Amino acid sequence: MTHHEILKKYWGYDDFRGIQREIIESIGSGRDTLGLMPTGGGKSITFQVPALAMDGVCIVVTPLIALMKDQVANLRSRGIRAVAVYSGMKTSDVITALENCIFGGYKFLYISPERLTSELFLAKIKKVKISLITVDEAHCISQWGHDFRPAYRQIGLLRDMFPGVPVLALTATATPAVVKDIQQQLRFAEENCHSMSFERKNLVYVVRYTENKQQELLHILNCMPGSAIVYTLNRKKTKEVCEFLVAHGITAEYYHAGLAPESKDAKEDAWKTGKARVMVSTNAFGMGIDKPDVRLVVHIDLPSSIEAYFQEAGRAGRDGESAYAVTLFGRVDRQVVARRLNDNFPPQEFIREVYDNICYYYNMAMGDGLNCTFEFSLGDFCKKYHLPMLQTDSALRILTRMGYLEYVEEMEYASRVRFIVDKNALYCFKALPSDYELLVNALLRNYSGLFTDYVFIDERYLSRITKLSRHRMYEIFVSLSNKGLVGYAPSKKCPIITFTRHRVFGSELRFTHEVYDERKAMFAERLNAMLKYAVSDEKCRSSLLLEYFGEKRNDGCGRCDVCVKQRGERYEESAKTAQEVLMALLADGELHDVAEFDKLSIPRAVMTKLLRELCDEEKIIIDKGKIRIL
Ligand code: ADP
Ligand code: MG
Repeated sequence: MTHHEILKKYWGYDDFRGIQREIIESIGSGRDTLGLMPTGGGKSITFQVPALAMDGVCIVVTPLIALMKDQVANLRSRGIRAVAVYSGMKTSDVITALENCIFGGYKFLYISPERLTSELFLAKIKKVKISLITVDEAHCISQWGHDFRPAYRQIGLLRDMFPGVPVLALTATATPAVVKDIQQQLRFAEENCHSMSFERKNLVYVVRYTENKQQELLHILNCMPGSAIVYTLNRKKTKEVCEFLVAHGITAEYYHAGLAPESKDAKEDAWKTGKARVMVSTNAFGMGIDKPDVRLVVHIDLPSSIEAYFQEAGRAGRDGESAYAVTLFGRVDRQVVARRLNDNFPPQEFIREVYDNICYYYNMAMGDGLNCTFEFSLGDFCKKYHLPMLQTDSALRILTRMGYLEYVEEMEYASRVRFIVDKNALYCFKALPSDYELLVNALLRNYSGLFTDYVFIDERYLSRITKLSRHRMYEIFVSLSNKGLVGYAPSKKCPIITFTRHRVFGSELRFTHEVYDERKAMFAERLNAMLKYAVSDEKCRSSLLLEYFGEKRNDGCGRCDVCVKQRGERYEESAKTAQEVLMALLADGELHDVAEFDKLSIPRAVMTKLLRELCDEEKIIIDKGKIRIL
């Protein structure tokens, strides 16, 4: 079957869209390819179609488990065999999935990049015949990008393992520097990037200056029909703004990463089906959500980069109909931006202080601590040592990047366990209570790689086969971890801290350039670009965004607030000259034929409007096609 026939047969689409065909031909001919298409442009087709034409399995690396599951379900609904392997799956399920790829005629294997650190996975995958390696959201591999994920660097392993297999990298957000970096990191045989214009012609960008954002938001929503997303930076505000809208008769829901999964689903559903018109959310909402008829995206706070803004704003108008992307900007926002840099990169002295305090907090003696895991409450810790929350949170992230500890606040991950003692020392466990042994044996039977690295475990499943309660299992793991026998990172709503090195003095912490200065500079640069977007009033907003992504254009979009304002100014200017010329001509007090004015090379529209204005102001009089001064 040709690519075109495959598209028709499985998707029922008549033709490829934009640069889909170009990308498919490039990767189909075996060349490493980078495809840049805006969100909603149809990136998935560009690997799904060629993979179906090839022999073997297409590996798809993608960062989010939820998206992975969606895509697999979508392919299966079209009668295509696809499977996903992700964190928290039972070993036996992982093995089944991979064996299906070896023997079962599967065409797509979705994986999260963390899988590439699992020995079991790597051993099995070697036996699979791979047709194509797809890296979705490829900007995650670049530390110059806005969403760097270190696990993406492991993708290089796949290149070593499957030397002849081409790579297709896909992304919707990449500056020219990131485009280059992606190709280098993925070891492209030669540069080969296909991109299409990121212009969204149906999207009208607007920045509104206001000192009362909620009122302005309400005003906008009342002036405009249709579904909307409102983005704000902090979780508390999502609820506040949502309540404000509801109090003023607008149906709304709110959303952030801290909500329980059931609650997230319900809110998302209410919005998708239109029961709630507005979703007020942090940036946690939107990825992978394919609602075509969003008419309006409002940012109450500036996002921290143009990349993020462009993606979020781009969720409006995916159906191609007119839609608005509005940013609300007030006087305080400049200070907010400056503060945000400092909040994200507090002074090094402060970070040393946080580190020392964390060690006191857990009574960690000098030289101790390696692999100890603790539950952590940011609120409690900050209160005890009188520390500001935001900066402390950032300090912990920086300490994590520096390798002194691991601060995990994601709650969607399953628990992870590893054995710290080696296999021969397993007798240590014999002396422990019998339910300890039960649990340890269940672990050994169901998971491999426990002696080399942290392994995700499925506690519900373990609880079922051991008949131990989840709580009891938790107690056992914590106790084993404190005895130094296992490392345990529990899946809990509360964050955890694991010491990944022996304790040192705060004054001994080493801040490398890469971990602090460089990142701080990049963060500042991105914030500044965003700020520039908001305060600029000379350049078309759409052009400004496109230029950030390396696309040059000369004309404005004609619809953003800057273009509209400039058009207004241009009219005023030409009307002013037109009026002078006109009045000079009429100065003789005679009747003049309207046709005479056609020679003056004044645009028709300007002339008509001007004559009407002058009439209204009773400066001239028009009578039967003739004009005279009054
Ligand atoms: P992206 O990953 O670039 O954000 P998707 O691959 O999720 O975009 O595709 C977005 C939507 O466009 C999907 O609903 C998809 O089915 C649709 N689509 C993709 N290619 C075509 C095409 N050639 N013709 C019609 N619809 C398409
Ligand atoms: Mg996609």
